[in-house]
Amino acid sequence: MSAVASAAASSWRFASFTIKNQVFYQSPLSLGLVNLKPLVPGHVLIIPKRVVPRFGDLTPEEVGDLFASTQQVSKVIEKEYKAQSLNLAIQDGPAAGQSVPHVHLHLIPRTLGDYEPMDEVYNALDSTDLTSDYTAYRNRETRAARKEREKQVFGVDNEERMARSSEEMEEEARRLSLLFPEERRGAFE
Ligand code: AMP
Repeated sequence: MSAVASAAASSWRFASFTIKNQVFYQSPLSLGLVNLKPLVPGHVLIIPKRVVPRFGDLTPEEVGDLFASTQQVSKVIEKEYKAQSLNLAIQDGPAAGQSVPHVHLHLIPRTLGDYEPMDEVYNALDSTDLTSDYTAYRNRETRAARKEREKQVFGVDNEERMARSSEEMEEEARRLSLLFPEERRGAFE
């Protein structure tokens, strides 16, 4: 295991957040962590261990490792959450909807009917932040109409969805980590 990979679990960060006991997967240069506010069960994030804001900041080795990790984790998540498909999304920069300044790939397991229409998941992904692209914004569904539809689909306002407790996230991270070979599991304290 490399020096980078063997860093103490408590030193892992998602931007300024400590992500202790949320990491279920690790590779030499990347981590898989459970989400504070998942859009659907099994919505996880794949991040580089190094804290950098933009995709263009990554080295070719980090890009390769991030995508190889995404492929490995996606197979497990799709099976575990009995999904039929996946969305893989990177919001690369604030004007693209990025709210946490640390590269992160959203891995979202999808099942038919979870979001109607299916692409509505992108509105949900962006629902904490209005885009600064006002042309695109003017042409899209109003916030009020979207919120009303989300309420009908999910029974709750997606913007107001509750952050999960650290215990709930740790339970999921521990459960998911056991689905990976020992050397790939996240470390817990
Ligand atoms: P984005 O809008 O693309 O920057 O996505 C940020 C993602 O990070 C959202 O899915 C949030 O729910 C998630 N998130 C924010 N803070 C944390 C945290 N401390 N731990 C885990 N996930 C987080």
